[in-house]
Formats: sequence, structure tokens, C-alpha cells
Amino acid sequence: MKSKHVEVWGKCLAVIKDNIPYQSFKTWFEPIKPMKIENNVLTIQVPSQFFYEWLEEHYINLLKKTIKKEMGPAGRLEYSIIMDSSRYENKAPITVNYPTANRKAVQNKSVAMPIDLNHGKSREIPNPFIIPGLKKLKVESQLVDSYSFDNFVEGDCNRLARSAGWAVAENPGKTAFNPLLIYSQVGLGKTHLAHAIGLQVKNNFPDKTVLYVQTEQFINQYIDSVRNNNQNDFVHFYQMIDVLILDDVQFLAGKEKTQDIFFHIFNHLHQSHKQIILTSDKAPVELKGLEPRLLSRFKWGLAADLQVPDLETRIAILQKKLYADGIEMPYEVVEYLAYNITTNIREMEGALISILAQASLNKKTITLDLAKQMIDKFVKNTTREISIDYIQKVVCDYFGITIDLINSKTRKREIVQARQLAMFFSKKHTKNSLATIGLQCGNKDHATVLHACRTINNLIETDKRFRIYVSEIDKKLKL
Ligand code: ADP
Ligand code: MG
Repeated sequence: MKSKHVEVWGKCLAVIKDNIPYQSFKTWFEPIKPMKIENNVLTIQVPSQFFYEWLEEHYINLLKKTIKKEMGPAGRLEYSIIMDSSRYENKAPITVNYPTANRKAVQNKSVAMPIDLNHGKSREIPNPFIIPGLKKLKVESQLVDSYSFDNFVEGDCNRLARSAGWAVAENPGKTAFNPLLIYSQVGLGKTHLAHAIGLQVKNNFPDKTVLYVQTEQFINQYIDSVRNNNQNDFVHFYQMIDVLILDDVQFLAGKEKTQDIFFHIFNHLHQSHKQIILTSDKAPVELKGLEPRLLSRFKWGLAADLQVPDLETRIAILQKKLYADGIEMPYEVVEYLAYNITTNIREMEGALISILAQASLNKKTITLDLAKQMIDKFVKNTTREISIDYIQKVVCDYFGITIDLINSKTRKREIVQARQLAMFFSKKHTKNSLATIGLQCGNKDHATVLHACRTINNLIETDKRFRIYVSEIDKKLKL
């Protein structure tokens, strides 16, 4: 028998699902776990503080209505939040209960650490971005217009970081995501997303001073300020900023003096509810060479990572880029690129640009063949491994059926045969176990895969037409 809280929450979910887009449901409601019902209070566990805030901000009305509908007018909701910091320090989740609509309670506390290097006097502070002698009053944000939210394709890989970034841009310095730290391997969109937030803040709040700075630039400016004996000005300049974006903070490693100065700037900004956005190539817990006191501050807000995008997202990114540049390219070429360059969006865009360059240089039309020649140059060193997904796709394309079909339970002859072919080629071309292949091809067991391989081998020997299919598909796979 289902316990009461599971049952009630199940009913709530059914209502919620009908009322919001599927994707939002998946993102924000599927990860929630019902915990208990006591005295008309339903407690649900959410994975992070961010989740809690997001739900309270976007779905509070829906949640309230649904709870009242399922539990009666006395029904209430309470959250149990797995605190973010537990990801890094002690592994066991700390849970904190918050009744609904009590947002203030979770705002991160800032530690008071005022520094007044200005001794109360006000005067004009030199801008380290300006070469001395050249006057400029406004702080140039150093933002790149094309790195906007509009141009940032949303996918499962970046949903959390993107939403957090969006929330920050709507309410800089006022959310719990301060600092917002975006981390990932190279080429996955950290810089783009950081700019997008900055641009959006400027759209929303034209009067706010936004500044994007690369960590290396920051370090050099600091070194210059030491040389010119105007460190105070340097610090003051940064303390004036409303939204400070520091890109690639891992470069602070080992730079103790710069870390020290940044520590003061950070404290001042954070304390004055100014927004800090950081990016790094590692999770905070893996950042080496940073002072513990600075590192601990990096963990105050939210650390959100960007993952490698899935195929659909990669295709969407390429298409967006082509569209923005007003270029047309056959879909098969786009798809080929997205299939073959999987781990770095910058590289994928690089390949796209070289194909365009080649085509225009030699006045060739863009064809799959041209793309293949170019791609070889990009992925030469990494021997391309054919994946089960890719095999399924090639087989399905060949027979003009959808991938869903071969992963379904259907026993229709053509579908079964396509599924068996996918299994056969997966055995032949990948290093996956029979069990894994079975699992990915319609959730079958290893014996089914073995049977499929035998059947296909038999058919190859006995059926001339089938033999042609197999060799044609094999050719496509190896292209
Ligand atoms: P990182 O800073 O993580 O090394 P970048 O932000 O420089 O990565 O991104 C590399 C390239 O990929 C940029 O041209 C960027 O516009 C593009 N890119 C990354 N993610 C996306 C996305 N989700 N949508 C569109 N373009 C993206
Ligand atoms: Mg970057």
C-alpha cells in the first residue's frame, strides 16, 4: 500500500503536470520527493536551495491551489531542502525545513568585513580599463552583444545554470545565488552565459554598472596598480561595480596577493548586495591553489555546472549560429557535425566555420563530402567511436522508421528486423557488452542480442537482398 504522502503528492503531480509545460514539469517537479504528512502539512524534499526558491517564485500559486485541492483548505506545504554546501563539505545532506513563502529565511548571510580605504573622502577613482590620459566617465561593461540569452540554446546540459543566470539577471544581488559560480570544461558556454547575464542586467536595469573582466586581466591590472602605487584606486574602482563578472577564476590559483585583494572586493560587493558572477573550469571543491577563505565564499551562493550538450542541443546550437549568420547549410551536414564533435562546442563551431571558409574559398557548394574532409582534420587524433545511438539512427534512417519504434515493444516484422540489425551492428562496431546493447535497444536482455546476431548472420548467408541491406548500412556507418 502506498503511504499517504506519496499518494497525495502523486495526485498533486498529476494536476501540476496538466498545468505547466512538460519540460518545466520534468525539470522542477520530477526531482521532488514527498517525505511525510503530519498535521495537514505535506513535506517535500527539494534538491537545493535554488530549487526551493525557484518553486516559490514561479509555482507558488499552482502549488497552493493544488495542495488545497488535494488536502482540503487546511493543507499546507513545507520544504525540506538539501543544502547546497553539503555537496562540498560533508557528504551527508543537511536538510532544513522551510514553510512555504518564507523566502527571507534562506538568504545567505554575509559576513561583515568593511574596509574603508577611502577614509571617508569622496573623489574620482581612476578606471584601470582606461589608459592614463584618456578620459572616460562611464565604465565600459566589456560585454559581447552576441553572447546573449537569445543566442544561448537551452538544453538539459545547461538548464540549471541558465535558469539561475536568468534569475540573477532579473534580480541582481537579491537572490541567494551570490556569488553565482558557473563551471564546466572548456568550450561549453561559461563565458557566453556569463555575458548573457550581464547583458540582461543591462537590459533590465540600465543604471546598473556591469563589468565583465577576465581573471588574467584582473591580475594584470592589480600588478600595474602595485607598480604605480595606486592599489586603493584599483580596489575602489571594483567596489563601485553593481554586477561583477570574473571569468575563469581558476587563474587566481597561486596568486596570493591578487586573491587577497579580490577577497576584500568580494566582501565589499557581497555585503552591499552587489552581484558577483564567477566562472571556473572546475567545481569549487576541485579548485586548487585558492585560499580557503576565498574558496569558502565561492560556495556561499550557487555553483552550477554546464554539461556536454546532447545531440539535439548540439544541432540546435549549430542551427542557431547558421541562422544568426544568415547561412544555409544542408541539414545532413549540420547533423554530421553534431554527431562527430561531441565534447566541445567551440570546436564544433570551429569546424563549422572552416567548412564555410573552405566552401567559399574554393567556390564549392557545401556538401556532406566536403564536411567529412574537414571533420577529419578536426577529429583526426581522436579515433571516432561509433555509438549505439548512432547505429540506431543510421539503421532507422535507412528503413525510414523512427528510433522510438525500434526501442518500443512492437513485434512487427520490419521493426524487429531493424532492431536486430541495430544490435548486430552494435556488437560488430562497438565495445559494449551484449547486456548494454540489449538495454539500449528496446530494453532487451543479452540473450536477445545474441539471438539477433545469429539471426542476422543467417539472413546474410541465405538472403541475397538482405545481404545488400547489411552492406549498404555498414558503408553508411563507416562514412
Ligand atoms: P567556455 O567559456 O566554457 O570555454 P564559451 O562560452 O567560450 O565556453 O563557449 C564556446 C562557444 O560555444 C561560444 O562560441 C559560445 O557562443 C558557444 N556556445 C556554448 N554554449 C552554447 C549554447 N548553449 N548555445 C549557443 N552557443 C553556445
Ligand atoms: Mg570561457
